[in-house]
Amino acid sequence: MKFSVLTLFPEMFEAVINTSITGRALKKGIIEAEYINIRDFSEDKHRRVDDYPYGAGGGMVMQPAPIYNAYKSVAGDTKPHVVYLSPQGAVFNQDKAKELAQYSHLVLLCGHYEGVDERIIEEIVDEEISAGDYVLTGGEIPAMMVIDAVSRMIDGVLDSSETMSTESHYNHLLEYPQYTRPPEFMGRTVPEVLLSGHHANIEKWRREQSLIRTKLKRPDLLKKADLSDEEREMLKKVRRKRKKT
Ligand code: SAM
Repeated sequence: MKFSVLTLFPEMFEAVINTSITGRALKKGIIEAEYINIRDFSEDKHRRVDDYPYGAGGGMVMQPAPIYNAYKSVAGDTKPHVVYLSPQGAVFNQDKAKELAQYSHLVLLCGHYEGVDERIIEEIVDEEISAGDYVLTGGEIPAMMVIDAVSRMIDGVLDSSETMSTESHYNHLLEYPQYTRPPEFMGRTVPEVLLSGHHANIEKWRREQSLIRTKLKRPDLLKKADLSDEEREMLKKVRRKRKKT
């Protein structure tokens, strides 16, 4: 998988993406990343890439031509999938990360100022993705989020000890609670079952905890989760019990 980021601030990326799991995946060659400075494609002698909005109003708008030329510099013979990071897009989630991981080449366009000229969206963008319902200064932080979350979905990026399938959101459930040494901290002990060495019981406990905390913290996720009838019954009891207390 190759990520090509079109940005005015390429220097923001390396410190984050070259670190930890994405850094390891880059070194192994499982992912590739390039950060293209849109300013290098300005046709203006002062390297300007923005101008006043037509119709007045505050702020500046990124011009379409430098973005288009930056895009052309990374697009090969096969059209890459182009994502514009935008507060107007669909909010990013795990399903979208899995979906994007199927592409061999993703181009991530980061806006700045008041955003980009609408015509570049019409011309090259396949979809808009938002980090959430708030406005950030630029698309760089959301682009890093997308690179990180998508990379984790690519075979070989996580090693066997970093399994993704029980992690929060992978199966529309939140992950069970995690504990490490020491067995007692500030009078709080680790659940007995985790110290028992009985793998079947541990798995059963983890599944139940995962269901219960999803029910309590993010009940909206359960609509898409794959639950047995028995598990649904168990969760009804959890709800009844909560109502009584
Ligand atoms: N004027 C735009 C609007 O109201 O829709 C917001 C522009 S914002 C200040 C500048 C850039 O930051 C955007 O072009 C976009 O690339 C990025 N951005 C801001 N908020 C974002 C969000 N929630 N998700 C993804 N990108 C965002």
